[in-house]
Amino acid sequence: MEFENFEQLKQSVHVLNKYFPIVHVWDNDHRQILYEIQNANSLESNPASHVFHDATLSIWDKEAKIEISIPISVERRQCRLELIRYCSDSDNPDSLAYIKRLIITDSLTNLYNRRYIDEKLPMDLKRTFQNGAPVSFIYSDIDFFKAINDEHGHVAGDYVLREVADIFFNSIRRKDGWAARYGGDEFLICLPELNHGTAVKIANRIRQSIEKRNFSINGQILNLTCSFGVQTIYKTSGISTVNQIIGILDRKLYRAKRKGRNSVVG
Ligand code: GH3
Ligand code: MG
Repeated sequence: MEFENFEQLKQSVHVLNKYFPIVHVWDNDHRQILYEIQNANSLESNPASHVFHDATLSIWDKEAKIEISIPISVERRQCRLELIRYCSDSDNPDSLAYIKRLIITDSLTNLYNRRYIDEKLPMDLKRTFQNGAPVSFIYSDIDFFKAINDEHGHVAGDYVLREVADIFFNSIRRKDGWAARYGGDEFLICLPELNHGTAVKIANRIRQSIEKRNFSINGQILNLTCSFGVQTIYKTSGISTVNQIIGILDRKLYRAKRKGRNSVVG
């Protein structure tokens, strides 16, 4: 977007200011704010709103910061137009809830995504340990999934991923448990306050439902299996990060594959 002069820019900025209470024009070359508008109530609603340049949209806050950055030129100077508004749950509950849901959802399977795992897992560990209870995890990978893609195509592969994800989703009965797609054909289930024996039983139950399920692909019935690793983490385990937990689960999953697949290693 090009503005021949400053007046032209100001007129456009004032129109945008109706929708974005905070507007900045940042001069890239001189690294300074060239022009800004900050409506009084936008500061009241967020006292820390002068911190603009490391904006994130946090799903756990009551308020989301929406920041749009557009490259522009003003009198041939390279600038950036920054449009900022805060959106609170009470302000626009439907759209904020939708945005929050969108950023934590895997678009193919509708399970939670990696971002959710990274943010929610450490919180669940902390909360559950405070209650003196352990957290169990089930990690699973579809057996020979690549062959499904190779033999039936990626659309069929996607369909299988969605169906398997539904089985994981429906296997969670606990209010505070959740299932997520870790990546590719790998899934993670988190079960706070659940002991190891019960988690292994649940993994076996899921394993059997997948084994029994008929997947219908282009009029053909296809059967498949999954391998599982199960780990229970206690406060005394000294484990607190997603990487540590995935590392342990991955090793167990590898053993399940080595055992001949379609098995659970607890
Ligand atoms: P293994 O039993 O050892 O797990 O064998 P595998 O064939 O399942 O091997 P692996 O888990 O490494 O294969 C994962 C495959 O998943 C490879 C990749 O092409 C495929 N994949 C990853 N993401 C997607 C996706 O979103 N859609 C589809 N259709 N395929 C995907
Ligand atoms: Mg696999």
